[in-house]
Amino acid sequence: MSQVFDLLIVGGGVTGSALLYLTSRYTDIRHIGMLEKYAAPARVNSLHSNNSQTLHCGDIETNYSLEKALKVQRAARMVENYATVQPDIDHLIFKYPKMVLGVGARECQQLRERFDMLSPHYPNLQLLGPEDIQRIEPAVAESKGGMRADEIIALGSENEYTAVNFEALARSFVRQARRIEGTVVDVRYNRQVAHIKKVGERFIVDTGEEVFEARSIVVCAGGHSLKLAHDLGYGHHFSVLPVAGSYYFTPQVLRGKVYTVQNDKLPFAAIHGDPDVMVPGKTRWGPTALVLPVLERYNWDTLKDFLMVFKFDRKVWDVLYDLLKVTDIRNYMLKNFLFEVPILRRMLFLKDARKIVPDLKYKDLKFAHHVGGIRPQLIDKDHRKLMMGEAKIDTGAGAIFNMTPSPGATCCLENAEVDMRKVAEFLGATVDEEAFAADLLGSDHRHAIEDLPMHFISGDDAA
Ligand SMILES: Cc1cc2nc3c(=O)[nH]c(=O)nc-3n(C[C@H](O)[C@H](O)[C@H](O)COP(=O)(O)OP(=O)(O)OC[C@H]3O[C@@H](n4cnc5c(N)ncnc54)[C@H](O)[C@@H]3O)c2cc1C
Repeated sequence: MSQVFDLLIVGGGVTGSALLYLTSRYTDIRHIGMLEKYAAPARVNSLHSNNSQTLHCGDIETNYSLEKALKVQRAARMVENYATVQPDIDHLIFKYPKMVLGVGARECQQLRERFDMLSPHYPNLQLLGPEDIQRIEPAVAESKGGMRADEIIALGSENEYTAVNFEALARSFVRQARRIEGTVVDVRYNRQVAHIKKVGERFIVDTGEEVFEARSIVVCAGGHSLKLAHDLGYGHHFSVLPVAGSYYFTPQVLRGKVYTVQNDKLPFAAIHGDPDVMVPGKTRWGPTALVLPVLERYNWDTLKDFLMVFKFDRKVWDVLYDLLKVTDIRNYMLKNFLFEVPILRRMLFLKDARKIVPDLKYKDLKFAHHVGGIRPQLIDKDHRKLMMGEAKIDTGAGAIFNMTPSPGATCCLENAEVDMRKVAEFLGATVDEEAFAADLLGSDHRHAIEDLPMHFISGDDAA
């Protein structure tokens, strides 16, 4: 046994590194470690090119209920409160106009009703008519030299933080955590955890070459979290459905983020177009939603990991069958499969993208190779359903496992807050509530634990 940690975090994406930062900055937990499989933080879904870089605030996401919107709003503010006081703010968080566009009478009416519901909670949210849309995003409102013919309306704002480089954010968390005096923060890269077991009161974390001991563990390893939970004997009634997202690039036609209204029958968000914070001069379109049998995009070595957690059986089949029997979902899945077929994919995707920019041209659309990650959606076998949003298995015995599809990056600090409190309670440590609230919550006094923005599974349910 080479090390004994009070807390050992597995996975150095934005979720794990946010927890590393919070526990070292705001608790008296003294010996904290983080093991990351790759040579740097955030190389998987938190990588700048693998997600949509959107700070989800809940105001333009038509697939969120009011309750979920307000929970996400709190989480987004925490990220904003952290990022805007960092010396490298310009690498972390970005202001662009944002809007959700309604096209046709039904969607426009839906957005008017949504505005009435949301505006008391979002003072900067505006209901935008065609001329406002034209001023902010001319390519959306215009077509063939005039205004587009179909009815349009949008909900949006112009001067807010709307995009984050979550990879840079993860690096910032690690850098800041390492600077804190009085706490041992031990970050090890190139350490892939193969097994976790419990011996007495201690967790034994095995990378194959080294073995670490810990009093508590939090696993933030995306889809691999479920594999490690299974290894320790938890969460066997969950399977995972990995949903890959691909993107396309065009020359820059949009100034900001333009989302579209969600089809309620579909489990995944409709495509949007926006600037890529790392690729100036282009507009990025997507993501698509393709089910793939891997836990990491473009890494076929994770096929065997997928097979280990997928555990295909009658219950998994029932959930998939329930999805496939809905015509809209079936067509959507087929369309997303065709989005990956060269030549055909550009023609099909163009049709969807033209809902946002009617005059977009086929020749301008390019598939973005090696861009886009995987959303590890959980399948709850007992309740026969596909779970949307983030999921957490809290064993109540010092081990927590996080599975983090969208909007997991926006919720990194709030998710870490929940884990920080649970780990502190388990270890008998204290949280510096005053400093935490002053730095990250500002005037927002809502509590995260009571208002969890995620599926929360207790140890009893999970084991
Ligand atoms: C297409 C797409 C678009 C998205 N858009 C948005 C968006 O706009 N806004 C938003 O808020 N969210 C978005 N998300 C979700 C967001 O990307 C994720 O919620 C977030 O990045 C998850 O962070 P994480 O740290 O939990 O996981 P990851 O970033 O995947 O990190 C997991 C880490 O664990 C490590 N790891 C895995 N296994 C092991 C092991 N055995 N041992 C050691 N380390 C291990 C990996 O190397 C990795 O570094 C999107 C996701 C996708 C796929």
